[in-house]
Amino acid sequence: MDFTLTEEQAAIRQMAQDFTREEIAPFALEWDREKHFPVETIRNAGALGMGAIYVRDDIGGTGLGRVESALIIEALASGCPAVASYISIHNMCAWMIDRFGNQQQREQWLPGLVTMERLASYCLTEPGSGSDAAALKTRAVREGDHYVVSGQKQFISGAGASDVYVVMVRTGDDGSKGISTLVVPADTPGLSFGADERKMGWHAQPTRAVILDGARVPVANRLGEEGDGFKIAMAGLDGGRLNIAAASLGGAQSAFDKALAYMGERRAFGQPLTAFQALQFSLADMAGNLEMCRTFLWRAAAALDAKAHDATTLCAMAKRLVTDRCYEVANNALQLHGGYGYLAEYGIEKIVRDLRVHQILEGTNEIMNVIIARSLIGRAS
Ligand SMILES: Cc1cc2nc3c(=O)[nH]c(=O)nc-3n(C[C@H](O)[C@H](O)[C@H](O)COP(=O)(O)OP(=O)(O)OC[C@H]3O[C@@H](n4cnc5c(N)ncnc54)[C@H](O)[C@@H]3O)c2cc1C
Repeated sequence: MDFTLTEEQAAIRQMAQDFTREEIAPFALEWDREKHFPVETIRNAGALGMGAIYVRDDIGGTGLGRVESALIIEALASGCPAVASYISIHNMCAWMIDRFGNQQQREQWLPGLVTMERLASYCLTEPGSGSDAAALKTRAVREGDHYVVSGQKQFISGAGASDVYVVMVRTGDDGSKGISTLVVPADTPGLSFGADERKMGWHAQPTRAVILDGARVPVANRLGEEGDGFKIAMAGLDGGRLNIAAASLGGAQSAFDKALAYMGERRAFGQPLTAFQALQFSLADMAGNLEMCRTFLWRAAAALDAKAHDATTLCAMAKRLVTDRCYEVANNALQLHGGYGYLAEYGIEKIVRDLRVHQILEGTNEIMNVIIARSLIGRAS
């Protein structure tokens, strides 16, 4: 087992770090303050292949794996976790179309998505169903070669700005087997958006309800068969969870780096903060946690690439472990800045606000434990 990056992986990470240093980090605080979704910057990331990291290359995808994705998203998130996380969601949607779409659907949707000239959103959550996603109620009724879709999706990242919506709908009975996945373009009559939600963090990307009111969607836009939708949605989330974890890691690493630099400069009781052993231990704990998170994230990513039997469990473990620990690291980094950590200009409180939601979305961390526990009990019985 070799935990060093290959030359190609190191080059990919360097490319993403360079992009982040030049095009994301200098502007992240302004985007957060102005609640600006930096679509041009996101498109520039797409031009470098970061919009379709694990989409196959016959259709213009970058054709890499989940470890490379973790490297890229971590690097992007060191500049702005909110932007990195949106890019992660877009990647998840593009992969779902690549993996579950037929050739005609791949050719129809992917060329615009791989370059990020067209952006995508993932629509599973509804006002009445979040954790219990299989209880979704958005109904798609077949009329000839169209579905007529009515319902509401809640908390949709990128909604209003995205061009393509990957929407989980009910075409059959209650429960997970009655769900299908439709690709719905933004200009579909009957599709509209709620107001941009006011929220704690992730200010650099919009969150809106997606409202479907008699929207007519061609049957040809369905991914897979009727009833495959829940499986498709969950498959997307395995990789999505790794990426959200990577986004936490990038944010936390950046907060740690800021704290380390600050502690060398800031003096108290006649010495720099780095001279206090209690604070040295805090740094040691944080550094160890970051490294543990990174190592385990790569392990889970490799398992997903290898289609290992326990990949879903490992992805859930990685999501919970990394997002929880990295939130703690970012919050400790804020503490080590004293009162200055609470001021927006130091960039630490933004990271803490951005990382908080990673413990909630793409399955809450309690739901990650549900998944892990189920696999344990299943294995034991
Ligand atoms: C900023 C933001 C962006 C988002 N982006 C998207 C998006 O792009 N697409 C999308 O589809 N969704 C998105 N979501 C929705 C997100 O995935 C849900 O909020 C999340 O899955 C939780 O659902 P809920 O809010 O309905 O909480 P609930 O399901 O109501 O949960 C409430 C609490 O109960 C706990 N709980 C529920 N069931 C159990 C159980 N069985 N065991 C133990 N604890 C349990 C939960 O962990 C949580 O603490 C986003 C959310 C936010 C805040």
